[in-house]
Amino acid sequence: MSTEDIPDILLGQNGYKPNDHSLPTLVDLSRTFTSLVNGSPPNTPHFHNLSSLISPQSIDKTKGRTILFVLIDALGQNLIDKLPDSSPLRKYWTQNARAVFPSITASCLTSFFTGQYPSTHGLVGRTFLPSRSVLINPLSWKTCASRESLDDLGISTTEVFCCPNSLPSDTHFFLPKGMGNRQIQVVSSPSSTDNPPSHHLSLNTHPKIVHYETLSSSVAQLAPLTKAFATEENAGKSHLVYFYDGNVDDHTHHFGVYSPEVAADIKSVEEFLISAEQTLFNTTIVLTADHGQTDIPHSAHFDWDWPKDEDPAVQKEKDRLADMLVYAKEGGDRRFSTFHCKEGRSEEFRVGFDALFGEHFVLVPPSEIDRMRLLGPEPLETRTSQILGDWVCFPKNCANVGWGHCYYVATHSGMSKDEMLTPLVILHSLN
Ligand SMILES: [Zn+2]
Repeated sequence: MSTEDIPDILLGQNGYKPNDHSLPTLVDLSRTFTSLVNGSPPNTPHFHNLSSLISPQSIDKTKGRTILFVLIDALGQNLIDKLPDSSPLRKYWTQNARAVFPSITASCLTSFFTGQYPSTHGLVGRTFLPSRSVLINPLSWKTCASRESLDDLGISTTEVFCCPNSLPSDTHFFLPKGMGNRQIQVVSSPSSTDNPPSHHLSLNTHPKIVHYETLSSSVAQLAPLTKAFATEENAGKSHLVYFYDGNVDDHTHHFGVYSPEVAADIKSVEEFLISAEQTLFNTTIVLTADHGQTDIPHSAHFDWDWPKDEDPAVQKEKDRLADMLVYAKEGGDRRFSTFHCKEGRSEEFRVGFDALFGEHFVLVPPSEIDRMRLLGPEPLETRTSQILGDWVCFPKNCANVGWGHCYYVATHSGMSKDEMLTPLVILHSLN
């Protein structure tokens, strides 16, 4: 079997191959921005195409220019396809991009910050830390089982994110009010010669983080930053601003992909784009998403405790299987779940799991994930293989089922086109 072959039992009719690199990812965008800002040599095959879109001949090179990178969490291509032609998101749509795999926010954001694929950085949602033998949630910064703060356990940002932040050192970060982002702290380590980086600024004291209230009010905070850079002294230079918004992701999880709540969020994004285009100075806006989402009803969630009214004999077998695991909670997320088995129980677990859940799910060993290069074009790092445990659980045929019950009605982390395909929207504000 060649590297490219992904069996139908994983890909199904719905799937988009995670090892197809014909579309750019957040890794390609990250590397392209860094090359454009730092003037460093291109290190992605997509550089030529992306830089011609981001820096066309028509931009004003007589003054400094801002590249405003807008990441709208979960704004998949499926949402863009439903919009009228008049929407600025369609008017300025240039091409598709795609999620890195697994299509989980922690994997995707870490790929953007580090310019590396999940095969290298190893962040797969809930992540097993081999150095501590503990399962952690990098977004909440807590352990999954006891919900202890990683700070209290003395676990450092560097230990979790492993790869250094590769974005230009003068990047500004715009985050919604109250939101932190541990990965940004990696950038604040004094220099790459400090190895491993030892100090971590608290989020509030990071000089380059700006918190905004709403998308519409953020434009007034962005404008002076872009104006200050758009001077003749900065001619030919570019400055990167990272801008994150999570409303679409949050509302999609709770209300569904095509809900009125998500439609209202998209309207706010459209208004933000129009206002930014009119207000910002010599700025190129590059808007994309980390991943999309797919609707999954509660009746298509399964795990050790769900559905609740399980046949007692089946529940007994579920309990027997769960007891073979090192952690009651799986790693990863609902459509890419990692199972760590107790010593010597791996094969027994697979057989039992297949008998009980084989209609809906399929278990794949890390060696096969490596062969298919699902997590990136490079081989899996040893640490990443350890993070994946004994088995990764995929929805069979990429169907709309999820492992692990929750009250969400839509989710992501799998390889369906809804989860994998994202838009790349680019416009230039030439004020
Ligand atoms: Zn999400």
